[in-house]
Amino acid sequence: AAKEAGRRTHYFFNEELRRRSEHQSSIHNRMRAGLKNREFRLVYQPIVNFGNGKVEKCEALLRWTDDNGNVISPAEFIPVAESTGLIHELGQFVLEQACADWNLLQSNDIHIGLSINRSERELNDLNAAKQWLECISQHQLPADKVTFEITESLLMSNKQRQIHILHYLRSNGVKIAIDDFGTGYSSINYLQRYPVDYLKIDRSFLNHAPGDRIQVALTEALLRVARALDIDVIAEGVENKEQWEFLQHQKCDFAQGYYISPGLGIEELTRFLKQWQF
Ligand code: C2E
Ligand code: MG
Ligand code: MG
Ligand code: MG
Repeated sequence: AAKEAGRRTHYFFNEELRRRSEHQSSIHNRMRAGLKNREFRLVYQPIVNFGNGKVEKCEALLRWTDDNGNVISPAEFIPVAESTGLIHELGQFVLEQACADWNLLQSNDIHIGLSINRSERELNDLNAAKQWLECISQHQLPADKVTFEITESLLMSNKQRQIHILHYLRSNGVKIAIDDFGTGYSSINYLQRYPVDYLKIDRSFLNHAPGDRIQVALTEALLRVARALDIDVIAEGVENKEQWEFLQHQKCDFAQGYYISPGLGIEELTRFLKQWQF
């Protein structure tokens, strides 16, 4: 009976794997077609500087509505793109679109920085990084207006090639942010060894602050360490007035979240920025 059960488990396991890989390759093929059919677009989420009250940057976030009108979340399609390698084409699209949009903002007399997500896998190849810098300069975008956001898992993996590429980008003026800090097994100890300009504290890190004593203490400690290392902190996922005021009181550097605004299409963003007041 045990053997029988084992076979059954084995069967279900393979079935599950097969189902998952079919789902992956279906998303992959739809994404590839979707890139050609212009089904992807960017929205921009404002990032506010507590110091001067200005929207200093916006984070570009990918949105995908397929040809049937289904909205697919980046949480679903980005991991697939990462595992199939399509992330390179997607990433190229994102950077080019963001640079073009930046020029549009400039011509509307709006001068802000852009924050652009990069997957760990996109940092594998020095030539790709060179192309990003070329793309940025071709669009007459000053390199220091661009921040690349990399998730914190890169900190621990200690991958020399990726770290070398981060140094290369940074030495050419681009800023580097560690994204989703506080979600993995991140140690603040790693921070001193990496070329980092910004730390983005994940929403889950302060979602119960200021009511939760432990979250308050952790946020205070993190802010203190970051300050000592000359790293600016961006609080992600600020959803209410209490969080906003708490962070302001803690002298956090930047805030981003639904309390300020969700991601906006480029026209909406332009309108938002024209009437933004602290
Ligand atoms: P992320 O880089 O950490 O982006 C922040 C996510 O939090 C976004 O989700 C944003 O819409 C959401 N968010 C912002 N403010 C709030 C808030 O106040 N409350 C809550 N609950 N959520 C908030 P989104 O757009 O679904 O993106 C999910 C993830 O997908 C991103 O997390 C990023 O890791 C990845 N991603 C998105 N666009 C790109 C891209 O162009 N390239 C790469 N490599 N990854 C991307
Ligand atoms: Mg990000
Ligand atoms: Mg994040
Ligand atoms: Mg996140």
